[in-house]
Amino acid sequence: MPFQDKTSSSRLLASFRRMVLPLLAVFCMQFPVYAYAQANPVPSIGDDARTALTPIQEYKLGRYIMIQIEQDPAYVKDDVLNEYLFVLGNKLIAADPTIRGELVNDFTFFGIKDRTLNAFALPGGFIGVHTGLILATETESELASVLSHEIGHVSQRHIARMMASSQKDILIPIASAALGLLAAAAGGGTDAALGTLLAGQGLAIQKQINFTRDAEKEADRVGFQILKRAGFDVNDMAAFFQKMQHATRLYHDAPSQYLRTHPLTSDRIADAEARALHEPYRQHADSADFQLIRAKARVIQRDMTGGLYEAEKFFAEQVKKGTRYQVAAGYYGLALIALQRKDPILAQLRLNEARKIFSDTVNRQSIALNVLAVQIAMEKGKPGDAFKITRDAIDHFPSSRAMSNLHIEALSKGHRYDECLRFLRKMKQRYPEDASLRKKTAEIYAGMGKKGLMHLSMAEYYHLLQANEMALEQLNLARREKDTTFYEHSLIDVYEREWKAEIKEAKK
Ligand SMILES: [Zn+2]
Repeated sequence: MPFQDKTSSSRLLASFRRMVLPLLAVFCMQFPVYAYAQANPVPSIGDDARTALTPIQEYKLGRYIMIQIEQDPAYVKDDVLNEYLFVLGNKLIAADPTIRGELVNDFTFFGIKDRTLNAFALPGGFIGVHTGLILATETESELASVLSHEIGHVSQRHIARMMASSQKDILIPIASAALGLLAAAAGGGTDAALGTLLAGQGLAIQKQINFTRDAEKEADRVGFQILKRAGFDVNDMAAFFQKMQHATRLYHDAPSQYLRTHPLTSDRIADAEARALHEPYRQHADSADFQLIRAKARVIQRDMTGGLYEAEKFFAEQVKKGTRYQVAAGYYGLALIALQRKDPILAQLRLNEARKIFSDTVNRQSIALNVLAVQIAMEKGKPGDAFKITRDAIDHFPSSRAMSNLHIEALSKGHRYDECLRFLRKMKQRYPEDASLRKKTAEIYAGMGKKGLMHLSMAEYYHLLQANEMALEQLNLARREKDTTFYEHSLIDVYEREWKAEIKEAKK
């Protein structure tokens, strides 16, 4: 069966070496700005980024790095956490659509399982946030201030500008760091080894993206405006800066990767304070999901650093003496732990405790609570119950990926294959670049015993991961199956021509 990620990772690695390193070399040589950069070795912050990297090139590069990161065990595969970051990030962006600047795509927000306080922006609007940073924030405005700062880097096209100034140097470390990430994924990556890798090499991607002091100040200034327009408490930007500086003093440089990539100077803190001073005080009420997501981040992180016992102890305390939302988050955290320990009955009891604290509206609207309810039903071995919740929830949360993915799972576990394929088709139209939807489709075909279609979907999956040679192998397998129809044979031919041309292009 083709669903073996470990072996495919090492083959992906090989195809990455073969295809992407030359591609990056091409990137380095082809930018017309190269001559410009030579003549102007230190471009000022006001230089035109368009000469360096077109928004489409920037997106493609970011997308490629992202494919590597998604294979990394540190990438948070939790739909609920990533969706929360996405919703919060888009709330900030929506307050001022000009912030998108020349970006050709939507922003992407994702979590990284890492205890250090860090967040980073990759080329093309991909913004990563460490779980450690989420846990260090005490208000939603603090977390929003970090996201705003990163959105500021993207909107001012700092990466493209930086490439204009040092373009030859920058892509090589990015490429080797992406390779390092992939190598860890291929090797299975024990937690300890992964920690070393992330500190030393893997997250070199963002370490290489060392913005200048001026770029940092610009991101602060733009970030502040974003935070203000979206209605968050602007005082929390300086407050969180101070918290990070304090953390640095306590632990020396261990938890402060953020400071290495976003050098925090006392004048940056002073600037943020001065800006807030001129604004009328506005309190921002945290969303119910903010505390729930922090509980989730704690469970995800503990899962990596050994045992859930510490997290359980923490939640037990929180339930005793937190604010109303913190108490609810404590019960939610205990429910998550119970579910991880395969005790859906206890998980259900804990979830009920959490729900009692929230209003009916919150209970209806919280993605975190509703997703957990579905997951508990699945763990109880009741896909029918899970399906009932997801079917209603899909209408309620039409743009929720977390809920859509669960709906697919509920349909698949309940053997409602035709319905599942129809829903998958709709999702593929909406998210044409999402490789996981192709893989899911392949799994459904496997369940139905349709091997030709299964291989065809796997071919599309590998193609989206830019592993074209593996995609071609799957096409050959699809061609050999007896159930492949005339229509599929012609589709296979079309794919084969296109993908071979792409391989040829990459080799050039
Ligand atoms: Zn920064």
